[in-house]
Amino acid sequence: MQANFLKQKLDQTKDMALNRVLIVILIVLVFGIAISLSRIPQTGFTLNYGIQLLLAAALFYMYFSRNTLSTRTKGVIFLSVLYVMALSGILSFGLYGFGYVYFIPASAIAFLYFNRKTGWIITLTSLGVIALVGTLFSVGVLNFTPEKGYMQTIPMWLNMVITVSLVSIVMTMFWSNMYNMLTNTFTHINNQQEDMKKMNTDLIEARDKALLSDRLKSSFLRNISHEIRTPLNIIIGFSDMVAQTDDPEEQHEFNKVIRDNSNSMLKIVNDIVDFSKIETNTFTLSQSKFKLNEIIDAIEKKAKKWIDGKPISLKIEQVDCKLNVDKERFEQILSNLIENAIKFTHEGEVTLDIKQTESFLYFRIKDTGIGISPEEQAKIFDRFYKVDDFSGGAGLGLSISKSIAQYMGGDITVQSEFGKGSEFEFVLPVN
Ligand code: ADP
Repeated sequence: MQANFLKQKLDQTKDMALNRVLIVILIVLVFGIAISLSRIPQTGFTLNYGIQLLLAAALFYMYFSRNTLSTRTKGVIFLSVLYVMALSGILSFGLYGFGYVYFIPASAIAFLYFNRKTGWIITLTSLGVIALVGTLFSVGVLNFTPEKGYMQTIPMWLNMVITVSLVSIVMTMFWSNMYNMLTNTFTHINNQQEDMKKMNTDLIEARDKALLSDRLKSSFLRNISHEIRTPLNIIIGFSDMVAQTDDPEEQHEFNKVIRDNSNSMLKIVNDIVDFSKIETNTFTLSQSKFKLNEIIDAIEKKAKKWIDGKPISLKIEQVDCKLNVDKERFEQILSNLIENAIKFTHEGEVTLDIKQTESFLYFRIKDTGIGISPEEQAKIFDRFYKVDDFSGGAGLGLSISKSIAQYMGGDITVQSEFGKGSEFEFVLPVN
């Protein structure tokens, strides 16, 4: 990934440099051609002018097809043009100062567009050509015979100034492109490192969550099998006992035990179903209109049974109003809170206060039971959490109730003092 990115950036930089340098060379060439053409009337059409026109054609072709040619082809054309310019400069004028400068961009191109080996071959060949031509001139095989006063002509000086500027521009462009490429690359690497750091923290968080959820699920499974096995054993045992006795009073008592245990098993199974619906986001609510009093009456009847002879007085407030929420789920939440209040209270009072404002209904379930310590208060709404394993239930009731309350746009909160009692508040928006 990183290597690909670097290669891509390098190719882009090469192309960018090539295209810019191409434009500069074209400008120089147009000058050169203009100068050459102005000299044709004095010198006639020479091979040198022909070469210049060919180079111009090659560079124009390259310029117009720069987006379709491969980097390698562009490199070959570019290199040939620079080489021919260097050789024709040296050989036609016999001036090192005029021709050899083209070898510099030629070497740079060979290194950049091909590989290091080609770069060295071109550089050494260039040096060889310079040395050879220099020797040929110094031994008199080649002669430099410019016209008299040629170097003093404006076009010649102009040509040299342009050539030298060209080389500096080419070099500066390569360096600035290289610099940009490196800056981009380092920024990219930095960003990637930041992303990876964030990903790492996210992964650690996800792992911790998975571990916690795994631990909770294992304790849930342990718990649940106990919670199901106990009433099931009681049901089987008492069913046998019902079959063995003819005493109607005993039968009645045994049947009650069987019914109570079946109900507590049904509650656990219902909790598991609700829990899986909430976990898989398939939980839905269906709205219906109903009178609050009806539900409260029904819960009060059940609550009397839950008290089951314990010295607890039940005070349930009635408020005359109509609701438009999921009736069954509403009853489930309120029942769960009142059942818990009775379950965890040995003596005293369990009360339900209802307060109505314009937009909310507040149900406060207060008990004088065992209470919950501040540390436990933060955890009792977690899935599968039970303050002690001896109390019945799967530790899902509060977590499910709170989720349903939130689905309805409300919430459940708790205030409690250990050993003194608890107060759960269920807030429900009314529309
Ligand atoms: P379950 O579904 O097993 O009844 P809940 O989620 O309803 O579990 O309750 C979780 C735990 O919160 C209970 O095991 C109990 O320890 C604590 N709890 C809930 N309500 C009360 C209460 N009114 N007084 C004291 N403790 C409570």
